[in-house]
Amino acid sequence: MTLHTTISTAPAESSESYQLYLPQQPLPLVFDSPHSGMQLPTDFNTLASVAQLQSGWDAFIDELWLPAAEQGASLLAAQVSRMYIDLNRAPDDISPDMLEGSWPSALNPTAYSSRGMGLLRQWALPGQAMYKTALTVTQVQQRLARYYQPYHQRLKQLLDQYYQQFGAVWHIDCHSMKSYGNAMNIDAGTPRADIVIGNRDGQSASAEFTAVIVEAFSQLGYNVSLNYPYKGGYLTQCYANPAQQRHSLQIEINRKLYMDEAAFSPHQGFTELQQHLQHITAQATAYIQSYLAVNTKDE
Ligand SMILES: [Zn+2]
Repeated sequence: MTLHTTISTAPAESSESYQLYLPQQPLPLVFDSPHSGMQLPTDFNTLASVAQLQSGWDAFIDELWLPAAEQGASLLAAQVSRMYIDLNRAPDDISPDMLEGSWPSALNPTAYSSRGMGLLRQWALPGQAMYKTALTVTQVQQRLARYYQPYHQRLKQLLDQYYQQFGAVWHIDCHSMKSYGNAMNIDAGTPRADIVIGNRDGQSASAEFTAVIVEAFSQLGYNVSLNYPYKGGYLTQCYANPAQQRHSLQIEINRKLYMDEAAFSPHQGFTELQQHLQHITAQATAYIQSYLAVNTKDE
């Protein structure tokens, strides 16, 4: 995917799993974009068309947030389609129906799996099956090893590294959403807010940091919903511990703000939104710098 941005940032690291953009002078602020990849590995063997696969694609989200890497934040962006393996799910969130043979340890399918949207997608869209036959255990283990684990390991390393260095870390998990939910979503048929911020009902980020981001969007004129219909997924759950100053927030951006949802191409709103996101990042970094100024770790 060619980036539309004029910013000359090149990834510091690039692998089949992810691209990582690093700032020159890092702050303890990490953005991650698990669904903006659209690579389709050759062993995918899906029944779904590319257009159907694109429906789950958080198109251009990495590019929209990329200027953050020039504002002191790190940005980790996935390469592979979430329809192949979903990095925003627990690695054992698998429906046994998807597998041929038995998984070597206990599976824990959640409500995502029952809606066909677990680690492995069962339906591309309502009624459109992803696969003709079940996947073998080896196939799924290879997807985990090649795409899932490297992404999670790198994200965890970044968060741990900044936490050690600064005594606190802020993580923003970046997504986009259809302007209306479909039958696989909990808000099917309802128009969505411009921006949905999720902090898992207060369990993944402080109220203070959440308010900074909510107010930053509100001041720009966006209507913002907190924790509905998206509270924050697995990525905001797994590395957060607000009591220990590890904060994770999810930001869902309504696709109608920046793209033609049917054609999957950016529209005239793209550039303005990208500029607005630089303002959001600036508000986040200002908050973090003021926090660090009063809470500097004694070495
Ligand atoms: Zn997403």
